[in-house]
Amino acid sequence: MSILQSLAERDRVFDFLIPNESPVDVRHGPILYLEDVSVSFDGFKAINALNLTIDDGELRCIIGPNGAGKTTMMDIITGKTRPDQGQVWFGSRHNLLTLNEPEIATLGIGRKFQKPTVFEALSVFENLELAMSADKRVLPTLTARLDGEAHDRIDEVLSLIGLEAARRRPAGILSHGQKQWLEIGMLLMQRPRLLLVDEPVAGMTEQEMERTGELLTSLAGKQSVVVVEHDMGFVRSIARKVTVLHQGSVLAEGSMDQVSSDPRVVEVYLGEEA
Ligand code: ADP
Ligand code: MG
Repeated sequence: MSILQSLAERDRVFDFLIPNESPVDVRHGPILYLEDVSVSFDGFKAINALNLTIDDGELRCIIGPNGAGKTTMMDIITGKTRPDQGQVWFGSRHNLLTLNEPEIATLGIGRKFQKPTVFEALSVFENLELAMSADKRVLPTLTARLDGEAHDRIDEVLSLIGLEAARRRPAGILSHGQKQWLEIGMLLMQRPRLLLVDEPVAGMTEQEMERTGELLTSLAGKQSVVVVEHDMGFVRSIARKVTVLHQGSVLAEGSMDQVSSDPRVVEVYLGEEA
């Protein structure tokens, strides 16, 4: 068959025709894959034979009592902590255990820590601009003129995080919730494939929580989002598939209704709140 004939067959896609935006290969499987991962700190198993699979474009909530290993799990995915055993893959091509933190970030895994770390003296716009420069690994030149595409991306992100009206405001005077959204925006400037968000609504007002839920659900599909959260009410409002972590392993997985009616989950997690 000639190449022209093959091209005419619309259901055939050649590798060389697929835009190579991201090096992550999810054609035959999940975007994130953890198998039998364990790590001990001074003999204490913080993560214990953990298995976890996240599909491309999925929004996954991970809940569990304090000390369950949620933050440690994120540390392992982002290369901050090395597990004692197990496999951690990003798509089918990248063995994350062979890469360091900056390499993993460059591949497209963005991490939002619990506390916002925006540049308070800079405007909202400048914070986003800076996040983009960091991606290109050039010196941040705040005075340099942005090209049109970069400007469009900032506008797009400002609208996603609902801070268009605050674009010229110094980040330091934003509310706690707005700072958290700005930081999510800064991660989005780098177009991550996978976003890890640790306890995003801690300290937020009800209204800010609702807005954060809308933001995170709107991101799913375009990128995969893993939300670690202790607040059950919030998780219930955004959850599709929920994973319950306990003592470093998966205790239950399924819809919010499924996991919250699981007696083992009620015992270890909901019991904690009583
Ligand atoms: P979570 O985020 O679910 O509350 P963490 O992952 O922070 O839980 O912690 C899991 C357990 O591992 C806790 O008992 C914590 O004290 C311990 N731990 C986490 N990181 C370290 C570390 N770097 N050194 C020693 N112990 C740690
Ligand atoms: Mg934590």
